[in-house]
Amino acid sequence: MSIPDYHHSLTGPFWQGAAQHELRLSWCRPCAQAIWYPQAACPHCGAALHWHVLSGDALLITWSEVAAGLNPHFSEAYISALVSPVEAPTVRLVTRMVQCAAQDLRCDMPVTVRFEKLQQLHGEPYVAPCFTVPQG
Ligand SMILES: [Zn+2]
Repeated sequence: MSIPDYHHSLTGPFWQGAAQHELRLSWCRPCAQAIWYPQAACPHCGAALHWHVLSGDALLITWSEVAAGLNPHFSEAYISALVSPVEAPTVRLVTRMVQCAAQDLRCDMPVTVRFEKLQQLHGEPYVAPCFTVPQG
């Protein structure tokens, strides 16, 4: 496993956005929808895709708490999750839930993006879009 490739032709803009605290998805303007995962062109109409900045609001689809360090690259306990951005309800983003406890999570609850600096065993830290339960 390596840190994100900021210059990758398909996924680089996602990680560049995260570094700037923007949640971006590849988007087809003619189809008016997200195309996820990123592709060279829209699979429906063939149009070129662009990157669309989202609000960061999403719904929690499912999650799993990893209590033991099974993956040496992520030695701390963490909560992996799938969330669906409000602007792209068919998309499932693989992410982490942070700043919350697993017992407080519910399916379909509103969550919001929170950009976290992640550190693997080797290499530079990088910023990833994680999600949390909004306060208040
Ligand atoms: Zn399209």
